Parts: sequence; structure tokens; C-alpha cells
Amino acid sequence: MRPPSLNPLFASAEALTGIGPRLLVLLKKALALPPGVTAPRVLDLLWHLPNGVIDRRAEPSVADAVPGTIATLRVRVLKHRGPPRGNTKAPYKVACEDETGRLDLVFFHAERRFIESQLPEGELRYVSGRVERYGDTLQMSHPDYIVPPERRADLPLLEPVYGLTAGLSGKILGKAIRQAVQNVADMPEWQETGWREARGFPPIREALERLHRPTDAADVSPTSVVRQRLAYDELLAGQLALGIVRQGDRQRPGRSTIGDGRIRARLLGALPFSLTGSQRTALTEIEADMAAPTRMQRLLQGDVGSGKTLVALLSMAIAVEAGGQAALMAPTEVLARQHAETIAPLAEAAGLRIGLLTGREKGRTRAAVLERLATGEIDILVGTHALFQPDVVYRDLAFVVIDEQHRFGVHQRMALQGKGGALGVNVLAMTATPIPRTLLMTHYGDLDVSRLTEKPAGRKPITTTLVSTDRLEEVIDGLKRAIGQGAQVYWVCPLIETNATSEMAAAEERAAHLAQTFGDQVGLIHGAMAGPAKDKVMEAFSADRLKVLVATTVIEVGVNVPNASIMVIEHAERFGLAQLHQLRGRVGRGSRQSYCVLLWKGPLGNAATARLEMMRDTEDGFLIAEKDLELRGGGEVLGSRQSGAPEFRIAEVPGFEELLTAARADAQMILNADPTLSSPRGMALRTLLYLFEQDEAVRLFRAA
Ligand code: ADP
Ligand code: MG
Repeated sequence: MRPPSLNPLFASAEALTGIGPRLLVLLKKALALPPGVTAPRVLDLLWHLPNGVIDRRAEPSVADAVPGTIATLRVRVLKHRGPPRGNTKAPYKVACEDETGRLDLVFFHAERRFIESQLPEGELRYVSGRVERYGDTLQMSHPDYIVPPERRADLPLLEPVYGLTAGLSGKILGKAIRQAVQNVADMPEWQETGWREARGFPPIREALERLHRPTDAADVSPTSVVRQRLAYDELLAGQLALGIVRQGDRQRPGRSTIGDGRIRARLLGALPFSLTGSQRTALTEIEADMAAPTRMQRLLQGDVGSGKTLVALLSMAIAVEAGGQAALMAPTEVLARQHAETIAPLAEAAGLRIGLLTGREKGRTRAAVLERLATGEIDILVGTHALFQPDVVYRDLAFVVIDEQHRFGVHQRMALQGKGGALGVNVLAMTATPIPRTLLMTHYGDLDVSRLTEKPAGRKPITTTLVSTDRLEEVIDGLKRAIGQGAQVYWVCPLIETNATSEMAAAEERAAHLAQTFGDQVGLIHGAMAGPAKDKVMEAFSADRLKVLVATTVIEVGVNVPNASIMVIEHAERFGLAQLHQLRGRVGRGSRQSYCVLLWKGPLGNAATARLEMMRDTEDGFLIAEKDLELRGGGEVLGSRQSGAPEFRIAEVPGFEELLTAARADAQMILNADPTLSSPRGMALRTLLYLFEQDEAVRLFRAA
């Protein structure tokens, strides 16, 4: 159970004074909410960190105020001067003064009544804002703050600056966040005092105060000890959660799965090619893991097109040879179907029975799959996370392959562990993203890794060109020639960040435009289409009935149409490097020379140019991933940003890697000494886990 002291933080932000339904909607836009959280909570305000401060500490007399700077002035209101009748453009002015001089407060499109109530003639007011010179007079237009002397404390002398959204003012957000900070109860300290003090880390509450109600501008900087403390807390929570999950995996013995090789032999016999060396090595490693009486946790990493799916199929065959069942989970429905289709002919040749289960299988179809699964008439079930819904019962699930693992979190991993009976299941995760070591650590702890380093024989390099959108018609002419010679083309329209509708519209418009040249040979696929409609388009493209497939990024992972040899990516400058690499990997799979055309629209900054040139000059996924990491930081490389949710809410600070390494070592030490987190520090650490919403891991203590 969550410590009650944290409850106020998990309440809806609406609980705060001044936050109603309308502001809640704006907050939802401005704050980065973690996956699954639909309405902003008090906690989400806490983690919305300032990216700077406005310094209002200068309190000169009017005579000493420096034009162009922010100042807080103590003035007496003299006289209101509204704009002359009929002239709405002229500003409303309020003349003020102190002992040293005159200052005009200036308001455009003024709300007269509001100004009159704020600035009664004859009274003293503190006003804060940018001082300007206008002709001979000193003025301040639209002061940020106007407060009477008795409410002087409401004027933040160091005001944090927050990321906003249209309609949400910094003042209102700041006020809400200050309230959120007040809701933070005293929490037990989970960091060791000596260590904490040696690093200069303040206690958690103090850290939050110093960030959101700064008295020292330096505290707000990403390199400050305050930020470092919070970053460390978040990293430690993550590492502890991983450690606890891993610990659970290790403590429980795993299932030893040994096959006799008969199905694998048939599969290999049905292949028109032989395995690459690294496919063979990976299979040997996987076979050994499966045979061992411990639970397998292995990541299979290989660039797009390196042949991971085949390795997965052969591994699943081991489980079936041993009398069990296997499941293959893909991140999207399109991919799940594609996997089922590619696997089907081979599987059939080897006598493997395949089933498909996604969100789309419903009613009788679904019931039939579940029935065959429970009786063991399905050897391998392919699908999306629908595979692990509570009512899906396997006769004997022995092995699970998760494609594009990084899209699944600890939660899903736990759900699937529940399906494997007392001994749990062996898990093989697959990813095309060459994940750097430190990131592997943050996400999976110490997973074992197999790498597919060779490309299958017969792959030709892809020629990548950078072309300005101004030359669109030339590109279309080129496609006409290539299609005349039998080529097929992917045409990718960009992700439009905030607006799925305009993204669709852009793709539709492009498809219509291309249809002027290519007629009904143009197909369109986008994320908002219903499943069966998507299938139909994919199928027509696979069967070569469509020559041009216009798509939003739904084709990003895994799609395999070997005859498609040209990839056009529109607004390539808007994509991340890893994404471009994934997309480009869709071509170069068949016998044709393949091309990737990166259409860009200027003006391009230096960084964008460098990124596109990098794509043109290399096909090395590892180089590209490293560059991507350097340019964008961890979360984006792992793809989680695509859903709009940040990987870390606060940990992305300079020195991240050093903190991560320390947090990891710390987590290990903690769990070695106190595996169930029951010591006093352990209990405090449980609070930490709840605070950073890693409490799924705490529940494992009860399950064990
Ligand atoms: P990945 O999933 O790693 O992107 P796939 O498993 O989809 O790659 O393989 C891409 C293509 O390469 C498929 O058409 C597959 O049949 C083929 N392939 C796999 N292994 C080999 C190999 N050893 N030799 C030749 N082609 C292979
Ligand atoms: Mg694949």
C-alpha cells in the first residue's frame, strides 16, 4: 500500500485551489504525463521543472531603474488616463511616482475595470516587470505583478519559468506548482545521510522547495545539486525496481527446456538459404539459456533485416520440440499479422501450428483461438499484448519472444511471467535498435545480449540521396521510370507531432497527388485506419498490385516486402536518425538495387544538415544509434518519446551516466543487504518507489 503521506500528491490537480476543469485540460497539455495517466495529478506538477528564473530582486528607486531590465518598484498611484474616446488603439496609462521620479504603467487593450481595481489612485503598490524608456518618460507596460504592500510576499523575487501551453499563464502554473510543493509531506530520508551530505544533496523536500521557490537562481540549473538529487532519486527508483524484478526472476528456478532438434531440422530444410554465422551463434546461446534450470532473460539485438524473426522462430521451435507452447508478441497489430504471415509457410512445412491473437480477434474467432490454445492445438501464438490478457490460458506456455522490447515496460513483463506456471517462462526480447550499454542498464538491468552482426548474404547496399522538396516532380519522374521496370515504392509522410488529423490529411493529399501520375497503383495506409482496411492495403502491396504505398510512420518497424526497393521519406528533417534508419531498412531486402530518397524542406540548420548527411553516408545502425544518442538523449533513442511520454521526468541532467552507474551500484548493494526492503532504510526506499511510480515492483514482494 502506498504510504498515506503520499496520497495528496496522487490526488487530481483539481484538488488545488484555482484549478478547475478548464485549467486541468491546459495542464494536461503542458505537463508530460506518464503512460496510462490521463489527468494531471499534484505529483505531475512537482515534476514539471523550471527551465530558468526571472530575477525580480532589483528594487531600485524610479530614478535609478535601468531601462531594458526587470525591476520591482514601490510606487504611489497618481492618476488614471484612459485612451481618448473612439481611439481603441491608444494605451491606457496610469501615472505613478516615488520620491525620485515618475513612472507610467501602460496597458494596451486594457480592461478598465480590472486596472481600476488593481491600482486605486493615491495608494501604494509594488509593481514588477520590464522597465522601458518612452521618449522622456520611464514606463512599464503590462507589469507582471501588481501587489499592495500587505501582499508583498506574493511577489516572487526569483520567479521560476516553466514550459507552458497556449492559454496557460506562467503565473497560474507557478501558483499551482507552489501549492503542490506545499502538499509534500515530510518523507523519511531514503538516501544515506553521510553519502547525501558528501554530495551536497539537500533533503527531498528542501530540494523541491529550492527548485520551485528558488532563493538562489543557480539551484534551478540542471547542474545544481538540487537537480542532481532529484535525478539520482529517479534513477535509483528505476534501478531498484529493475533489481527487484530481476531478483524475483533469479530466486525462482526456471524451466529447463530441451528440444530434440526435429522441428528445427525441418525448418532449416525448408529454408532457401543457410543461416548467417551470427544467427547460428545466437541460436546456440539461446539453446543453452533455455536448457538451463534458471529463467532466461536474453535480448537479441540486430539491425533491421539481420534476420531476427528467423532466430525467433527457430527458438520457439525448441520450446515446441520440448512439448510446450511459445508466444511471439509484437508491438502493433500490423506487425503481428506480418509476423504470422512470414512465419506461416515455414511453420507449415515443419508441422508447427500457428495461431493469431490481437485486439481485433473478437467473439467467435477469439473464442476458437482460446479454445485451441487451451487444448494445445496451437504451438505458437502470434499477437499483440492481447496475448497476455487475463482470460488467455495456455496449455503449457514455455517460451515468449517479445519483438521491439523497448516498447514494453516492467508491467507487461510481469503480466506475461504470470502465464508460465510455477516455473515462469523463458523470455527472448528482440530489438533493432543497437542499444548502448548504459541504456540497456537503465531499462533491463543486466540482461544477457546476443547480437546479429552480419547481414544475410545477397543484401545490396542502399543508395541514399538528399533531395530538396522543390524537386518533387523530378523525383516523381524518376519513380515513373523505376516502376516501369517493376520496382515498388514506399512513400512516407512525416509524423506531425501534435495533430493526428493533419498527419492523415497530409498523407491523403500526397496519395491523391501521386495518383495523378500513377492512378490506382497508389495505396494509402495510416494509423487511424481500421485493422482490416490496413491489411487489405498491405496485402495488395505485398502482392505487387499496388506500386506505391503512401504511409505515415505505421510502417516503421518490421514490414517485409522484398520487392519494394525505393523508400521516399518526406520532410526527412523532421525524423530522428534511428527512425530514418528503421524506415530505410524496409528496402534493400530483395535482389533489386535499392534507393532511399530523403526529401527535405529548407531552411535546414547545421544540425539537421549534419543528420541528413550522416544518413546519406552510412548504413551502419550502430554508428547511427550512437550519433542519435549524442544528439537527442536516451529516451528518444529507445522510441518511448514517440508516445509523448518522457523516459525520465527529471533524470536527464548533465552527468546522467555517472549518476546512473552510481544508482545501479547502490541498488545492488541495497538489495544484497536487504532483499525485501524491510529495514528502516528499506521502508524509506519503498516510499521512494511509490513516489516515482515504480511500486509495481513493491508488489512483487507480496507475490513471492
Ligand atoms: P529483422 O526482423 O531482423 O528485421 P527479418 O527476420 O525480417 O529481419 O529478415 C529479413 C529478411 O531476411 C527476411 O525476408 C528473411 O527471410 C531473410 N533472411 C533471414 N535470415 C537470412 C539468411 N541467413 N540468409 C538470407 N536471408 C535471410
Ligand atoms: Mg523483424
